[in-house]
Amino acid sequence: MTTAPLTFKGHPVPYIAAWSSEHLPEPAVVRVPDGIGLLRYPRDSAGVSWKPWALRQGDGTPEYGFVHGPRQRRAMRRQLCQVCGGPADVNEQGVLWLLEDSRGVPGWPEREVTTHPPVCLPCAPLPVRLCPHMENAVAVRVGRVVVDGVYGRLYAAGLGGPVPGEKKVVFADDPRVKWIYGGQLAATLMNVTVVDLPELRSARLPVL
Ligand SMILES: [Zn+2]
Repeated sequence: MTTAPLTFKGHPVPYIAAWSSEHLPEPAVVRVPDGIGLLRYPRDSAGVSWKPWALRQGDGTPEYGFVHGPRQRRAMRRQLCQVCGGPADVNEQGVLWLLEDSRGVPGWPEREVTTHPPVCLPCAPLPVRLCPHMENAVAVRVGRVVVDGVYGRLYAAGLGGPVPGEKKVVFADDPRVKWIYGGQLAATLMNVTVVDLPELRSARLPVL
């Protein structure tokens, strides 16, 4: 199945990018007995508070710098392409993902943790062209994906209420997931093989 990404003024807009009409007012973060909660928005069954978003893909203008949480999480759970939202490419080596090239780091890319969902073959060159931090991306095939992390702002207990700290990934078995204001899901990649993808090479060619 091929799914074409939405476009805006002739440019593809990734499935996980937010649109201007999808922002909602930030809810108040409140203290609850075992962590934080949000006013008017219940936590999920694991006790995670998720940043709320409206679902109005294609409405307004695209905001390439903002990841739309619910679509990112859907793509992670269902292994959908981050660009078009269709099924990610899979072969006998596994599902196709793009990672920032960290060859030289011992052990990389086994057990790499990422918030970027996988891609399908036709869309693979697009993140390399569109996202500055993916400029040196490499393609990998992933045999086993465990979606076990929450990326967001970690809060701590404070005298006057919860105190915001750093943004980070907290894993599902860590009690601090109840202290995070979650934005995206993070996946741990296992059985990872770096592959040569001709489509990526052509994406790096200068535009004439
Ligand atoms: Zn795609």
